[in-house]
Amino acid sequence: MMTSERSTDDWPSSLWALERQRFDDDDQRFSTEVVVVGGGYSGLWTSIHLKLADPARSVMVLDANEPGFGASGRNGGWCSALFPVDLDHLAQLHGVDQARRMQAAMNNTVADIGEFITRHRIDCDWALGGTLTVATNPAHENRLHDQVAMFHRYGFEEVAYLSAAKTTDLVNIHHSRGGLFSPHCAALHPIKLVNGLVQIATSLGVKIVSNARVTTIEPGSITLVGGRRVAADWVVRATEGFTPQLKQDHRAVLPLWSYMVATEPLSEDVWSEIRWESRVTVADGRNMVTYAQRTADNRIAFGGRGIGYPFGSRISSNLDVSPRVHRQIINTMHEMFPATRPARITHCWGGALAVPRDWHPSVTIDHQRQLVTLGGYSGDGVAASHLAGRSAAALITSSDDDITSLPWVNHHSPKWEPEPFRWLGVNALSRLPELADRIERRTQKPARRINAIFDRLA
Ligand SMILES: Cc1cc2nc3c(=O)[nH]c(=O)nc-3n(C[C@H](O)[C@H](O)[C@H](O)COP(=O)(O)OP(=O)(O)OC[C@H]3O[C@@H](n4cnc5c(N)ncnc54)[C@H](O)[C@@H]3O)c2cc1C
Repeated sequence: MMTSERSTDDWPSSLWALERQRFDDDDQRFSTEVVVVGGGYSGLWTSIHLKLADPARSVMVLDANEPGFGASGRNGGWCSALFPVDLDHLAQLHGVDQARRMQAAMNNTVADIGEFITRHRIDCDWALGGTLTVATNPAHENRLHDQVAMFHRYGFEEVAYLSAAKTTDLVNIHHSRGGLFSPHCAALHPIKLVNGLVQIATSLGVKIVSNARVTTIEPGSITLVGGRRVAADWVVRATEGFTPQLKQDHRAVLPLWSYMVATEPLSEDVWSEIRWESRVTVADGRNMVTYAQRTADNRIAFGGRGIGYPFGSRISSNLDVSPRVHRQIINTMHEMFPATRPARITHCWGGALAVPRDWHPSVTIDHQRQLVTLGGYSGDGVAASHLAGRSAAALITSSDDDITSLPWVNHHSPKWEPEPFRWLGVNALSRLPELADRIERRTQKPARRINAIFDRLA
C-alpha cells in the first residue's frame, strides 16, 4: 500500500486481478467446428451465443495467456451504450435509420447483459445507475448541450442535461455546472464478469484453452506457437488490441493504451462529502477521456486515455504502467474529488485498446476465408462485445436475426498507414485533446478549431 506521493515504479497492478481465477484445459483436439482466437468478452460471448444457438456445435476458445488477460480484465467497468462513432457521423455513413438502429441496439444490449447476469446469477457487482458526464467549465457545458441535442434529434429523449443541483445530488464534483445523464450504463467488476462468462461457456461445453498463442490464421485452420494446427469450419478472430501481433493483420487496428488507478476503500466521511450513492458511472466533459466508477467495496477506480503510441504497434507489458499518465490521472481525480486527496492509491494499471483507422467497430464475415472478425471498439467494448459476439454467432449460424443487418456488420475500416507515418501522425494528433483542454480552461470557450482539426484528421 502506498500514498499518492510515492514513485509509481513499485505500484501493485490491477485492482480487479485479485479476483482472477485460473482456467487450464489441456485439450488436445486438433479439429473443431468453430475456433475462437482470444478469450476476452468478445470471444467468450461469441462462444456462448454459438452454443445457445446449437448445443451440439463444437466450439474452442484459445487464449495466448488466459481469459481476461486483455482489456476485458482491466477496464473501467462501464457497461455502457457508448458507441465510438457519434450519431451524426453514423448517419452520414449509413443513413439516419441505421444510425438510430445502431444506438438502439447498444441501449438494448446494456439491458440484455443485465438480464443475462441476473438469469445466470453472475456475481459481478452489477449496478445499473446510468452514466453522468459533468461540465466543469462553460466549454464543457456547450459541448454536452450539443450532444444532448444530437441524441434528441434521433429520438433518444431519455438522454438529458441535468442542472448543477441535480448533478450534485447524484455525485458531488468540484466546480460542477451540470451534466449529461444517460440511463444506459451499469458499473461492474470486469474480472468477475470474465469469470462468470468462462463458467457459463464451460458448462455449455465450450473448450477454453489458456497459453495457446495463435501465430497464423488461414482458411479453415489456425496454427499455434510450436506448429500445432487446429482445423475448423470457422475461425473467429477476437484479439482486439493484440491484433497487430498477427502478421497478416498488422495494420488492421492501432493499439492505444488506457490507464487506471484505484484508491483504498474510502471512509464514510469522504463518501458523505462526495455522495455518489447510485454508483452512476462518472466522467467529466474535457476532451481527454476520463472515466470513473465507485466500486462495490467503496473505492474510486479512475481512468484516462494515455497519449503516446509505440512505434510499429509494439505491444509490451512495459507499457501497462506510465508514471506520467498515472500521475495525471491522480491529479484529475483530485481536481474532481478534492476529498480523495489524502486517500492512498493502492493500484495502478493499464491495457491496450484497438482503434481502427476510422474509429468504427465492426463484425465481419468472409465466407471464402471462413473467417469472422469482431472488435475495434476504441475503448467502448464492454457492452459492444456482447452485441458483437451475438452478431458473430448469428452470422456463422446464418440466423435471420435482424442484428446481422446493423450498420457495423461487414463495415470495413481502412488500414492504418505504414510506419513511420503512422507513428508521426498518431503521436502528433494525440496531443491535440490535451492542448484543447488547456485552451478551454484558460478561455472558458470551446476550442472549436483544434477539435475540428482533430476530428478531421482522426
Ligand atoms: C484500462 C482500460 C479501461 C477500459 N474501460 C472501459 C470501460 O469502462 N467501458 C468500456 O466499454 N470499455 C472499456 N475498455 C475497453 C474494453 O475493455 C474492451 O473494448 C473490451 O474488453 C474488448 O474485449 P475483447 O474480448 O474484444 O478484447 P480483449 O479483452 O483485449 O481480449 C483479447 C484476448 O485475445 C488474446 N490474444 C491476443 N492475441 C492472441 C493470439 N495471437 N492467440 C491467442 N490469443 C490471443 C489476449 O490474450 C486477450 O485475452 C477499457 C480498456 C482498457 C484497457
